[in-house]
Amino acid sequence: MTAAQRVLITGGASGIGLGLARRFAARGDIVALCDADAAAVSAAAKELPNSLARTADVRDEAQMATFLDEVESAWGGVDVVCANAGTGGPAGLIEDLEYQAWQDCIAVNLHGAFLTCRWAARLMRAQGSGLIVVTSSTSGQWGHPLRSPYASAKWGLIGLTKTLAMELGPVGVRVNAICPGAVEGDRMDRVVEMEAAAAGRPEQDVRDQYVSGVSMRTWVTVDDLADTVLFLASPAASKISGQIIAVDGHTETNAP
Ligand code: NAD
Repeated sequence: MTAAQRVLITGGASGIGLGLARRFAARGDIVALCDADAAAVSAAAKELPNSLARTADVRDEAQMATFLDEVESAWGGVDVVCANAGTGGPAGLIEDLEYQAWQDCIAVNLHGAFLTCRWAARLMRAQGSGLIVVTSSTSGQWGHPLRSPYASAKWGLIGLTKTLAMELGPVGVRVNAICPGAVEGDRMDRVVEMEAAAAGRPEQDVRDQYVSGVSMRTWVTVDDLADTVLFLASPAASKISGQIIAVDGHTETNAP
């Protein structure tokens, strides 16, 4: 039986983040989550009444400071930080993309992880222990046609993960990234719709393409991701750091 851990999750009010919050809470861990979607935060707070759930945008330094300071005052430290908040960004050929849409996508996925990881690193270095799990994507390993901002941000997160593992390894802190493949749920429904519109293709074609590029011919579930993160947070993973772990049924190609 592992002692209860203090777990902070960004983008924790829906999708993968909420799945992680549920699974950690179910085994008796102490959970704090933030999310930019206030309605989703209130629903998560109702579902997980022992959690500290707050509305905060990971891009906003002041909002994040308020949230992170509150967690630090309540807990005094943190054991697991999941830098998970992300957005799919726009779909289209680069020559058709707006600069603002590029910037927004990079800001949520990459800048938000900076603010979260900077706080986690300071606390974990002082403790001499801790685990950071960054949510990248198979798009950050392979590239992703029509999604250059997203692939670039997720690729950047891999550089962040590798570097933080080097900076924090000597003091006993582990840093890993998970790379989900296509996850069943609302978000991929929205992504398929957006990519189909950008490419002028039927949605079913785009959906089939996500499966045909995967050796196991499958999408993954939120619980597949949560299983991996819970493993990383367990003593069985005590020597695993600096790893980029795809949970995707093995992507062979992201190209159409
Ligand atoms: P989701 O849209 O269901 O959940 C993302 C959550 O992040 C939402 O609750 C949203 O409100 C929140 N969020 C968005 N912008 C935010 C911001 N600026 N500040 C705080 N919170 C914000 O999507 P998901 O599938 O759960 O995605 C979670 C992570 O997994 C993301 O980083 C995403 O890029 C990554 N990912 C998802 C898939 C997939 O197929 N769903 C695949 C690969 C990687």
